[in-house]
Amino acid sequence: MLDPLFSWLLLPLGMALGWALARRRSPAVTAISGEQLGGLIGQIASDDPDQAIAALNTAAELDPSTAELHLQLGRMFRKRGEVDRALRVHEALATRGGLAPAVQLRARYELAQDYMSAGVMDRAEQLFTELAGQGAYAVEAAEAIRTIHEQAREWRPAIEAARRLQAVKGESQSAAIAQYFCELAEEARREKRTDEAIRLVQQALGEDRTCVRAHLMLGELREAAGDHAAAARAYLKAFEHDPRFLPDVIEPLQRCFAANGDRDGFLLFLKDAKEMSSSSLPFVAEARLLAETGVDPLDHLVQGLESRPSRAVLAEFLEALERQPNLIDSGLGRPAASLRKALLRLMEATPKYQCSHCGFTPKQMFWQCPGCKHWGTTAPADDVLRA
Ligand SMILES: [Zn+2]
Repeated sequence: MLDPLFSWLLLPLGMALGWALARRRSPAVTAISGEQLGGLIGQIASDDPDQAIAALNTAAELDPSTAELHLQLGRMFRKRGEVDRALRVHEALATRGGLAPAVQLRARYELAQDYMSAGVMDRAEQLFTELAGQGAYAVEAAEAIRTIHEQAREWRPAIEAARRLQAVKGESQSAAIAQYFCELAEEARREKRTDEAIRLVQQALGEDRTCVRAHLMLGELREAAGDHAAAARAYLKAFEHDPRFLPDVIEPLQRCFAANGDRDGFLLFLKDAKEMSSSSLPFVAEARLLAETGVDPLDHLVQGLESRPSRAVLAEFLEALERQPNLIDSGLGRPAASLRKALLRLMEATPKYQCSHCGFTPKQMFWQCPGCKHWGTTAPADDVLRA
């Protein structure tokens, strides 16, 4: 059964087809118009799309002006997810002789999109490449080819496609190209080719100095190699370019500063972080440092709760509270511990990341948002509780 919207769309299409045929004067066409036209329109507007396609093909042999109707019908099938029917309609049109060159190219462009929707990527890429080679649909073809390589995780061809897109569209693609280099760096890192991974990350930064992912990865690679000073510099750069990434750098920075015996350097970073970021995490880190030196962090955490209330500060506060001797004596230590455990469970269930483009809130980090497919739009979610 056709859905009402599709039937509604098909009705004017059938009428337009009738008009296209009726305005012809040849006796053969007049015969078609008279005897078959009613049935033709009926078939197109009926719930039998296959008969509609057959009728349209018959009409197309008689009148080239039905090409636009072919294109519209094919597009409707693709939008409805009936890719096999879209392919049949567009293939019939693309292989038909006597079409105007622009219509021929358009039919092949639609066909390439059908193949993409059907997941026949090699055929889609071939058609898009041919179209681009003929100077037709250059931007759309370059975008489609890039998407095809992205989906196949073929990063070198994706870089080439993005460079072509940059050239034809006149719009920088360096942020995406940097992400592709980061993907290559991830592959190299997984395969323990560390030097190559570092070289690829530096290529990413050559494309886009503000690429947070590349700075983070460089920090991790330098830290793994034992170069804590260089690692700290890279982590700091990531934070400077996007302070939302504080949760991802605060612990690595603490490790790197500690490895270099630079406790004051880390304290200075926490002070800057409080100014640059709205996160409550610097309070938590400062409280832990105080506790390490034997100072009760409770007052500091109260200050954190008042200025930046968050689940993280509250959990830390409750932990410090549980250790208070007078609370243990009063028997309130256990309720405080229960409350903290419930809070930790709530924190685990809360999405840690958010895409600034589509609002998707995953529990893990995705450099390409699974929702909107944008690169570099997902970042750690703000942890401060607001009224
Ligand atoms: Zn998104």
